[in-house]
Amino acid sequence: MIIKKTGKISDGFYVVGSPTTPIYLLDGPEPILFDGGFTALAYHYETGIKEILGVRKPVYLFLTHSHFDHIGAVSHFKKIWPKLQIGGSLRCHEILLKQKAIQLIRDLSLESTKSFKKMGVRSLNDKPFEPFDLDILIKTDQKTELSSDLSVVAFNTPGHTWDFMSYWIPGKKILIASEAVAIYENNGYIQPEFLVDFDAYLESLRKIKNLGAEVLCAGHYAVFTKKDATDHINNSFKVADDYLSMTERFLVQEKDDIDSVVSRIKAVEWDNRPWPKQPESAYLLNTRQRVTTIWERMNKNSDERL
Ligand SMILES: [Zn+2]
Repeated sequence: MIIKKTGKISDGFYVVGSPTTPIYLLDGPEPILFDGGFTALAYHYETGIKEILGVRKPVYLFLTHSHFDHIGAVSHFKKIWPKLQIGGSLRCHEILLKQKAIQLIRDLSLESTKSFKKMGVRSLNDKPFEPFDLDILIKTDQKTELSSDLSVVAFNTPGHTWDFMSYWIPGKKILIASEAVAIYENNGYIQPEFLVDFDAYLESLRKIKNLGAEVLCAGHYAVFTKKDATDHINNSFKVADDYLSMTERFLVQEKDDIDSVVSRIKAVEWDNRPWPKQPESAYLLNTRQRVTTIWERMNKNSDERL
């Protein structure tokens, strides 16, 4: 099944806030949230979490990576649940200390708030993004015991970013992979999500494939179960390879002019994609990064051949 809405996925596991950029909630004696969503949707997440937990409070929030659309509402959660323990990787912690990164996150958050307004989304939080500290530095293979039969195991899945962590819930075969797998856009286009390293992204996909997840939680739009989970992981490999070939071809045709290649790819992928979609500046930033990563990989590979 491919689930594209908020609500219950299986016993004690929920998609909360918005299917576009959800927060995942694993309920239990110590409820745990995964990812921190958009700043603008902070109240949507809060309402969704409270509907499930009632007067109980989430104990942990684990972050997959430090992009603006995955950490936006964290400081709001810290305000309403001061004891909430925020976990993320060491690299994620280092990024959150950089003034330049915080400014970029703030700018992209404000732009996305504007597009939510344009789309007519109600109950928006229009305050700017606020930085926060991590309470727990999560290492690969780190296990968090939530009860006698429920635990979460973190593992590093670089490629989209270097700070990326995926979270595996072995007792339920649930994997929070976020953008370590491709994004299933709302028009059915499958967007490969490697940004910083193509080969590391494929290596991370191999680790993910080996787990045999029965519930695969992507970063945006969809949760995949059973056969669709397996299919989506296989599709993630395929679209990454297709994207690599397309970009290599465009780079040759455009004589390494990155800007021309980015606009040709945007015409193929983004221009005709219906809203809601990734805001243009975030899409362009990511596409430029994917093209640059492939250009560097081509040059490194040709150096090695000399
Ligand atoms: Zn991301």
